[in-house]
Amino acid sequence: MQAYKTVLMELKRKGDLEKVKWLEGMNKRITKSQKQRIIENDNEVMQELFAPKWVSWDLIYSWATEGLEKKNCVLCGKKDSLGMDFKGKFMCSGCFIELKHKI
Ligand SMILES: [Zn+2]
Repeated sequence: MQAYKTVLMELKRKGDLEKVKWLEGMNKRITKSQKQRIIENDNEVMQELFAPKWVSWDLIYSWATEGLEKKNCVLCGKKDSLGMDFKGKFMCSGCFIELKHKI
């Protein structure tokens, strides 16, 4: 797992400013809905991001999920940072995936 912060720090240390610029610009470049899809582990979104080859899915995923607060899932009650808000209620990614398969 390549953590976003670690990679960013390492690149800054090496002075690889092109890559640093790309990583720091992700917030502006990636839309909210794309970010949500990353969080939901939908890696088809990679094709839309036009990410350079050195940017791995792990890296993007760790960027998207960093700093997500943990909330209680309305269905299973577990605390999780991954998931989505549904009509103002939080559903963890596990329950969301399960629900998706039922529909
Ligand atoms: Zn749940």
